[in-house]
Amino acid sequence: MRLRLLILLTRIALKMTSVVTTSAPAACWACSVALDASPLLCAACGKVQPAAEIDYFRAFGLPRRLTLDLAALEREFHRLSRRLHPDRFARATAEEQQWSLAATALLNDAYRTLRDPIQRTEYLLKLEGFEIGEEFAGKNKSAKRQPPADLLEEVFELNMQLEEMRMNRKMGESDPALHSELTAVSLRFESELAKLDSGLAEKGAAWDASSAAGDDAARAAAAKDMAAQLDRRRYLRNLVRDVNEALTTDKES
Ligand SMILES: [Zn+2]
Repeated sequence: MRLRLLILLTRIALKMTSVVTTSAPAACWACSVALDASPLLCAACGKVQPAAEIDYFRAFGLPRRLTLDLAALEREFHRLSRRLHPDRFARATAEEQQWSLAATALLNDAYRTLRDPIQRTEYLLKLEGFEIGEEFAGKNKSAKRQPPADLLEEVFELNMQLEEMRMNRKMGESDPALHSELTAVSLRFESELAKLDSGLAEKGAAWDASSAAGDDAARAAAAKDMAAQLDRRRYLRNLVRDVNEALTTDKES
């Protein structure tokens, strides 16, 4: 609990002060050995490094790739967490104590984001300059509710059915045929969501391959595809949520 509070305070402090230097150090401040894995910690002497603006992939000493070995990521997270734990720096300088808190906070955020395939993809696309994720979905409400072109008709029909269900409910009635139709729609969207997820994983592998090969055109194309699929995914998820809510209310009435 105390650690959590310290991390929270560190997050606030990092925003207000210049604890964070702009770029990650290339070599350890204490022993001058090059930092070739995680720039949070020196592998040679074990000293925590000055807090710097590094992305989540670099925090783990990983290249910017979407296909990750999750078991290795978890092991590395626990290993670094132990070595960066503020208790280990209780007798170090005030600066080192602050760095260990900053590094622990960053490592926690990095692990939470990278271990989830969707969050990992969104994060990487943001690093690549795409406007993606919930914070952008809310930016333009009308654009958010605009269905993908190939779903226009289906969504129109679906909205009529949902409206019909609401009307029925107002009159204290339930239409079993409508209920089962909407249940089928929900299941179909769920299965499309599952397909989208495996499609995203394939695109992620394509992005990795073109990044490794230095093929910028293929890399940009894969990123654009993934951004579009994530938008579609968000739209479908909202639809499924709306339909399921309506179905639950219909059942209760
Ligand atoms: Zn060192």
